Amino acid sequence: MRLALKIDVDTLVGFKEGVPALLALLAQKGIKTSFFVAMGPDHSGRAIRRLFTHKGFLQKMLRTGAPRLYGFKTMCYGTILPGPPIAASAPELLHKITAAGHELGLHGYDHVRWQDSLSRLSTPAVLKEIIQAQKVFVEIMGYPAVSFAAPGWQCTAAALDVLVQEKFYYCSNTRGYGPYLPCTPDRTWPLLEIPTTLPTMDELLGLNGRTGADFNREILASLKSGQTQVLTIHAEVEGRLYAAEFSSLLDQIQDKGVKFIRLLDYAQELWRYPELLEKAEVAPGRLPGRAGTVSCQHSKRGTV
Ligand SMILES: [Zn+2]
Repeated sequence: MRLALKIDVDTLVGFKEGVPALLALLAQKGIKTSFFVAMGPDHSGRAIRRLFTHKGFLQKMLRTGAPRLYGFKTMCYGTILPGPPIAASAPELLHKITAAGHELGLHGYDHVRWQDSLSRLSTPAVLKEIIQAQKVFVEIMGYPAVSFAAPGWQCTAAALDVLVQEKFYYCSNTRGYGPYLPCTPDRTWPLLEIPTTLPTMDELLGLNGRTGADFNREILASLKSGQTQVLTIHAEVEGRLYAAEFSSLLDQIQDKGVKFIRLLDYAQELWRYPELLEKAEVAPGRLPGRAGTVSCQHSKRGTV
């Protein structure tokens, strides 16, 4: 039984408050993970447009207590308040992530723009998002990132073209059941995709009255021997208000004998036998507790 923890950092508050708390917690438990940080400005306030475009967005915001989770200021960034830079606001934190042995990859440049507009962005516009993110990363770290996790699990053919062109070693852009090479009936992208396989806490909290403890029980029950699962957590959520529940989840996972693996190490294992990788199409799908659609692995085995 293995579990890769993918930690998405979408906002300034998640970066400056959630990341240090998660680093301390992971050090205490001896766990190595994969962090993906949005490199550009925090435009979280612009997500308010989803009220009109994403069915179920308001319910999700209310159910998860979004104002408490993110704070009032975050909900104004990019609207009545300017959007502050995320990664560049505390470059030393990126170095702390890698110094502690965690993996560090890109979670886009402008998280909200990617999540809400990717399907309308031209290939040059997608390329610009990735080049801007990589530029910030290189300025801070001195070398380019090799892994990319799409904001909001939004992935298109244009995004795949750009990620191949920019030579990313692997991506974690979608929701699915196992690693694959994205394809259409006519073509296959030579890009390893390692999808998130488990539901996230912010999707399930409050859904049918679920508590943090209920969520933890469901995750534990999903970890089966012989499988490598991928759980995405959010620095804003598990690194702040729900830190106690997350700490308890990690204890229970370790008690069960599950081994933690970084996505980069998993990718290296998978690239050793590329001929064994399955091919799967990427298609929009709806998941319980998430507003709008996300990009999902879709093949003969079904869609996740
Ligand atoms: Zn994100």
